[in-house]
Amino acid sequence: MNKKLVVIGGDAAGMSAASKVRREKPGWEIVVFEKSPHTSYAACGIPYYIADQVKQSESLIARTPETFIKDYQIQAKVNHEVLQIDPENRRILVKNLKSEATFWETYDELLIATGAAPILPDLPGIDATGVFSLSTLQSGIEARAYIDLNIPKKAVIVGGGYIGVEMAEALLDRDMHVTLVDRSSQLMRTLDPDMAILLADYMAENGIMLYMDESLTKIPTDGKGKVRQVETNKRKLEADVVIIGIGITPRSDLAKTAGLKLGDSGAILVNRHMRTSVNHIWAAGDCATSYHILREEETFRALGTIANKQGLVAGSNICGEKIEFPGIVGTAITKFLDMEIARTGLSESEAKEMNLEYDTSAIKSSNVASYYPGSAPIHVKLLARKDNKRIIGGQIVGFKGSAKRIDTIAAAIMGKLTTFDLAFMDLSYAPPFSGVWDPVQIAARRLL
Ligand code: FAD
Repeated sequence: MNKKLVVIGGDAAGMSAASKVRREKPGWEIVVFEKSPHTSYAACGIPYYIADQVKQSESLIARTPETFIKDYQIQAKVNHEVLQIDPENRRILVKNLKSEATFWETYDELLIATGAAPILPDLPGIDATGVFSLSTLQSGIEARAYIDLNIPKKAVIVGGGYIGVEMAEALLDRDMHVTLVDRSSQLMRTLDPDMAILLADYMAENGIMLYMDESLTKIPTDGKGKVRQVETNKRKLEADVVIIGIGITPRSDLAKTAGLKLGDSGAILVNRHMRTSVNHIWAAGDCATSYHILREEETFRALGTIANKQGLVAGSNICGEKIEFPGIVGTAITKFLDMEIARTGLSESEAKEMNLEYDTSAIKSSNVASYYPGSAPIHVKLLARKDNKRIIGGQIVGFKGSAKRIDTIAAAIMGKLTTFDLAFMDLSYAPPFSGVWDPVQIAARRLL
């Protein structure tokens, strides 16, 4: 029997699911509602677009609504916001943001893929002209247009997570004097302090003014509502442009109002098939929970890697294939200029929080054979359980070719490998790529 799938949110998770359903069910009607003007865009590319490393915003769009209808017969309706879900009557209330008209759309199966929203503190000046937070492609286009037009000289970034770090590079590239403020004492709190400090030092060496342990209190504006300064609890900073990257929260309001269960994080609670607590409603991506394999619980982790996989799993199950999302271990990667940063599994603070007994090793080696041109430092940190010696965490900070080595550690964690397994894994070697013992294996040997 042919059915009608309706998707809320036209990016990574939503369109992965819609495309999968289309491949398997050529006769189904598929309608996607997306409130921004774009579908299937790479939010991850926004910092590189603002930096002008990527020249055109169109380059960040994988498929437009026109492509979806022409090649996939998926109706992707942009500038349409979903206002309400009525599970009892299997219908949603939609608003056409151009015409302001509202209408009810029925569904047989509904996928919620509304993503996550940036957290914005309720402070004076937070909505001033020149203050940006990044989420959709549209938000990136607006930030870049402002920078192109106003050519700001002084930038303040609030928040030292991966978006703050990537934007620091982007704004340096745009010839700005960049200051980063964070209320915590370390950058990238998903790393341990001994690894995060390597990044902080490198950012400071490269001209980023870092003010840690400082909280944003106010964004003073000029008479026309344009940002002029950033005030923290300790100082006043001149600012022509401000980026707020202090965290995100799952967009789960629609689901909550419709009576769907949420996880502790506020994300929509899903099972491993991406089913929600209400029949015929599924959720995937940043708005949904992700099962954490090491923590053995549903967590909120907003990453494109997870959204794409969950979208595929949701789509597969919607059309009757039984696929389980295996879960995550928290693998993430980024860079600042030439420095690469990556992490997977548990940090020391997470392991402590779980009352796990663990051993740890931290080594410094070189990214390629030490005598080979371009040799540069790589730092690897590993965590393994004391009882069964299984690898449970890894962090890498280093130069060219360093960070993607995190995938070996992630594979070791997901494969439940021990320190011995990792130390003696048959990895590749030639001088332009690593020493004969890969730095990850040197760290594993140190643990042994
Ligand atoms: P989203 O991509 O957020 O899409 C949800 C869509 O739903 C949005 O387009 C939104 O407009 C729409 N929507 C929301 N509510 C409604 C509604 N009521 N009605 C209609 N439409 C609605 N991840 C990585 O893995 N690696 C990276 O390097 C990386 N870099 C990033 C850099 C930046 C600057 C940002 C912002 C994110 C980055 N991410 C990265 C995260 C990644 O982009 C997200 O995890 C991913 O896009 C999530 O996909 P999603 O489909 O769940 O949600």
